[in-house]
Amino acid sequence: MSLYKDQKIKIYNSLTKEKETFTPIHEGAIGMYVCGPTVYSNVHMGNCRTFLSFDLVFRYLKHLGYKVRYVRNITDAGHLENDGESGDDPILKKARIEQLEPMEVVQKYTVDFHDTMAKFNALPPSIEPTATGHIYEQIAIVENLIAEGHAYEKNGSVYFDVIKFNETHAYGKLSGRKLEDMITNTRELAAQSEKKNPQDFALWKKAEPQHIMRWPSPWSDGFPGWHLECTAMSTKYLGENFDIHGGGMDLKFPHHECEIAQAEASNHKSPVNYWMHTNMLTLNGKKMSKSTGNSILPGELFSGKNNVLGRTFAPSVAKFFMFQAHYRSILDFSNEALEASEKGFNRLLDAYHSLGAIETSDKSSMSISTWKQSCYDAMNDDFNSPILIAQLFEASKFINGLKDGNATITKADLEELSATMKAFLFDVLGLEDTSVSGDESAEKLDGAIGLLIELRNQARANKDFATSDKIRDELREVGVQLKDGKEGTTYSLS
Ligand code: AMP
Ligand code: ZN
Repeated sequence: MSLYKDQKIKIYNSLTKEKETFTPIHEGAIGMYVCGPTVYSNVHMGNCRTFLSFDLVFRYLKHLGYKVRYVRNITDAGHLENDGESGDDPILKKARIEQLEPMEVVQKYTVDFHDTMAKFNALPPSIEPTATGHIYEQIAIVENLIAEGHAYEKNGSVYFDVIKFNETHAYGKLSGRKLEDMITNTRELAAQSEKKNPQDFALWKKAEPQHIMRWPSPWSDGFPGWHLECTAMSTKYLGENFDIHGGGMDLKFPHHECEIAQAEASNHKSPVNYWMHTNMLTLNGKKMSKSTGNSILPGELFSGKNNVLGRTFAPSVAKFFMFQAHYRSILDFSNEALEASEKGFNRLLDAYHSLGAIETSDKSSMSISTWKQSCYDAMNDDFNSPILIAQLFEASKFINGLKDGNATITKADLEELSATMKAFLFDVLGLEDTSVSGDESAEKLDGAIGLLIELRNQARANKDFATSDKIRDELREVGVQLKDGKEGTTYSLS
């Protein structure tokens, strides 16, 4: 069903700084590219906020019936600190520290990333290409940029000529920076570099002898610059002009600015119609970040082993907490905020579960179709998840009214209400029903039944058959069958 024909989305475009009506290039089909992680360490909750925000976008677009090709890359080479001027490749650095092959580092943290995304119930992207798997495509773009006069070679490395580009294009338009100001601020750096000017950025770097991740190219044995991989992979899988490009705000400059420059210089067209940027998750008011150590890892959240949280929280609770803020607002992470979100989330789940026991009537005292459309309106307005959640709380208030006999609902409306809550809670927000399922609950149940079996064994040993029979019979009443065998007592659930 193509819901998108009735639901018109507006997206805040970071390039124009306006909320714009979203019109895909091809009707019914959307291409979306999101910069993926640089896999040299575990993703932290800040990274997760960005990836989960785009999972929400992906889920909502799919819910509306769009065919979405969602490309999210893995940066497994080339993300150099300081554009290679004085910094190192963090993957190589980590490989040295952990005494691993660089590709072992890549594999270890890619697996961790996938595992984390699965725990958060995020959908896998349609394509997950790697930088090292697209060296050929990156070299082809560099060759084209040199031929177009937008790049130059120096000592086996190739740089993008920003000043030349700016003569005919607007370098800095996404981040709002002016090239003249950048030049004034960096004048003293110019002399130490092989670049024509400090704003130029690396497209290809000649590898030093100790740099083991290297590939042959027309200029040197080396490796591609970081910005190039996203241009190569987005163009290959989504075309020279595609619908949505996303990432965290901190990627606007230089990464996305450079992507725009490369693509415009190479393909003579603007690569992206809607640029979306998520705001930062902070801890103690400061950006969560790998390099400063000001971060909470998802594993620490699930295990409760950290200095910030008093106990464990389920992945869906953390997700609910994040979606209670709009993706373009700063959000501060704290134990108190998570506890409040957990309460709210449980209230919604309780309301949803109680729908099965509601008596219907011949009139509804609330318009379910109006409420349902306000859920869509919230998401159509630049994916406004906090407003959507406020609407779900409105529904839960109404459900409480139904339970108390202060409100009424028809059978058809009850079905509509139930289906809509289910769709938004589980399909669109991608939350999981922590109250009825999940490994954690299964473990708890197993532990509780184990304890009852032990108490029954003690009762039998004491010849207290009244108690042992009571435990067996009452467990059977709630659907737990005990079976006594040679290996001891086991149970099954009916
Ligand atoms: P990285 O692996 O460092 O390239 O980061 C992966 C993604 O996480 C990028 O889109 C970043 O912009 C984003 N990111 C990094 N730190 C945060 C944060 N504190 N809050 C939200 N997103 C972040
Ligand atoms: Zn990127």
